[in-house]
Amino acid sequence: MAAGGPIHIMGAGLSGLAAATTLAKAGIEVHVHDIRADSGQRFDGDFQALENWSTDVDFFDQLNEWGFDTSKFKATAFSKIDLAHPDDKVTEVYTNGVAYRIVERGTAPHTIDQGFKQMALEAGVNLHYKDRVKEEDCHIIACGPKGTSAVAYGEIFNTSHPNHTAFQLNDKLAPGSYSYLIIIDGVGLICTCLWRKQKGSERFLNETIAWYENQYPELDRQPIKRVGGKGDFTINQRYKQNGRYYVGESGGLQDFMWGFGMRMAVWSGYLAAQDILGNCDYEVEVRKQLLPYVRTSVANRFLMNRVGDRIFKRMCKNWMKDQAKRDDGLVWVGKLFRPTWWKSLIYILVNPFVLKKDPKSFGRGVRRLPFRKALKRDQWDQSSEAVIVGEKWKAVRKSGGKTSFSKDEETPAD
Ligand SMILES: Cc1cc2nc3c(=O)[nH]c(=O)nc-3n(C[C@H](O)[C@H](O)[C@H](O)COP(=O)(O)OP(=O)(O)OC[C@H]3O[C@@H](n4cnc5c(N)ncnc54)[C@H](O)[C@@H]3O)c2cc1C
Repeated sequence: MAAGGPIHIMGAGLSGLAAATTLAKAGIEVHVHDIRADSGQRFDGDFQALENWSTDVDFFDQLNEWGFDTSKFKATAFSKIDLAHPDDKVTEVYTNGVAYRIVERGTAPHTIDQGFKQMALEAGVNLHYKDRVKEEDCHIIACGPKGTSAVAYGEIFNTSHPNHTAFQLNDKLAPGSYSYLIIIDGVGLICTCLWRKQKGSERFLNETIAWYENQYPELDRQPIKRVGGKGDFTINQRYKQNGRYYVGESGGLQDFMWGFGMRMAVWSGYLAAQDILGNCDYEVEVRKQLLPYVRTSVANRFLMNRVGDRIFKRMCKNWMKDQAKRDDGLVWVGKLFRPTWWKSLIYILVNPFVLKKDPKSFGRGVRRLPFRKALKRDQWDQSSEAVIVGEKWKAVRKSGGKTSFSKDEETPAD
């Protein structure tokens, strides 16, 4: 499969479209096949954050250098965020530059998915939606998560509150994980991530919404719909096998700790295309440029799975102490994501035990982070405020409000 094509790509998400655009711009015939009716349909209006802390390079500079046009989608840059500690204390984290950019996922014209689709079409990519192809017939596998290691549930609502973001570490509301509030131009999202599998997951979302309503009384929340999805965290023995490239979440190129996978999705799609164009070896570059971050995140996740609110509180305190010292809150979180010798050591020691083999992985030696079982402390009754949140949602659902995930542990089957 040398430059010349045609190249077939499975999945028209961020990683697949990034690869397709790069190849088509180089004059190669590219066909992208997606089982869904459009790019971004998997997400349905969800807000997500493009992190800007894991390297010293601004992600938008990277995108421009790779030939992507960042004006094709709406991105709202933030330099601060409210940090909600597990004991409900709220402090502000800030930096001088761009800490992260919020983008919308979905099928609306301003979403990042449609921006990448537009770039692909302009480059001459052939897109085939509602088209089921076999993995064996494709050169690049970019079809997102297969298994489930964690899930996130959110509610999208109209609000009169100005643009705002908040990030909360709280093991009750977001077991093993975090919750967040994002408000952009009159539309809000409150989301909670569950890194332990729960029965009746809506309870966590209702209680989280109730918490934010209490904290931000002027939220004026008018629910529109509920969204969600799964994350698949895997380590692969090979990222290129039998002439096929595994990119984005299909290749396990994800952040095991908190699920910030978009940057790696685009990055890996671009690298796979560069290999096909004869400019690099994908396997080598993934190992050099991306895997150190993935391994660091495995170590972080291992540690995160062993702690609760006491350590989350200490993390928040340390974050604030570091920010006071440096007058910059981005350094602390950046360090958390970057490889160090001791996290490499943790990775080497723990990865044989924490990851489970995926027998259906075409002999690629895929090992997945299992969706952990619930703990005793995850059993609690909803507060009366959370019950009211649930009732309000039920009424909205009855009058047509949609939910884009069906089962507790999984988004709709691919
Ligand atoms: C609720 C939620 C919140 C998230 N928040 C963030 C965040 O804030 N920041 C961040 O960086 N990351 C976030 N992520 C992770 C991020 O969305 C993913 O890591 C990223 O989208 C992966 O890109 P991808 O190209 O691998 O897959 P996707 O962008 O999901 O694209 C995969 C595509 O493949 C298609 N497909 C699936 N199966 C097949 C098949 N058999 N054949 C053909 N096509 C197929 C799908 O329809 C889809 O279009 C979040 C994920 C979830 C679920």
